[in-house]
Amino acid sequence: MPVRNDDLIDLRGLCRKRGRQISSNLTVDALEEIELIAKDLGFIEVHLLETSHIVTARWVGLKCRYGCANYNTSWCCPPAAPDLETTRDLLAEYDSALLLVTENCNEHFYRNSGEKRRIQIRQWKSTVALERKLFLMGYYKAFGLPAECCALCKECAYPNQCKFPNEKRPSLEACSIDVFQTLKRLGKSISIVHNIEDSYRSYSLILLT
Ligand code: SF4
Repeated sequence: MPVRNDDLIDLRGLCRKRGRQISSNLTVDALEEIELIAKDLGFIEVHLLETSHIVTARWVGLKCRYGCANYNTSWCCPPAAPDLETTRDLLAEYDSALLLVTENCNEHFYRNSGEKRRIQIRQWKSTVALERKLFLMGYYKAFGLPAECCALCKECAYPNQCKFPNEKRPSLEACSIDVFQTLKRLGKSISIVHNIEDSYRSYSLILLT
């Protein structure tokens, strides 16, 4: 069932209604500031949503375990990432999250090319940087779940110590979050890209309050 429009708040639209209080510590002014920072970091859209609308599912872990070369090779992927039950417990500790959208075009998506790594690193660093800024703004629980897989190192040190522990996060997909169903519940249309030269969207989350 799609959720009501009120449950997904586009920050740009919301920020026009200045002065409206969103929740205990999320004012319109704060959201406006967050949106500007997120846009500066390269996100094309940022939405505020209730964590109760984030869908988790066991099939997501199945896709990681079978058919993905990153399984058991990265600190940010299963089995090192939080399992389904842990993710559900974590989501229950938050009321709101930010959904962050990037748009990229990469003809070498299915190859481990330098271009693919460059895009992954940019998305990863932007999510972690926004999480840090949110922490400094007073959102002390902010925690980022970046898109795809950490590519800060050409080859992940896993299972040895991570080389950049400050940047280490579990990816959104690795936490068994069903991005497709979550987007559908939010009333957002999604489509599978069929042509390698077409642009595609990636989604990150920051658990917020
Ligand atoms: S920073 Fe390097 S070692 Fe750490 S998770 Fe990312 S790729 Fe692996």
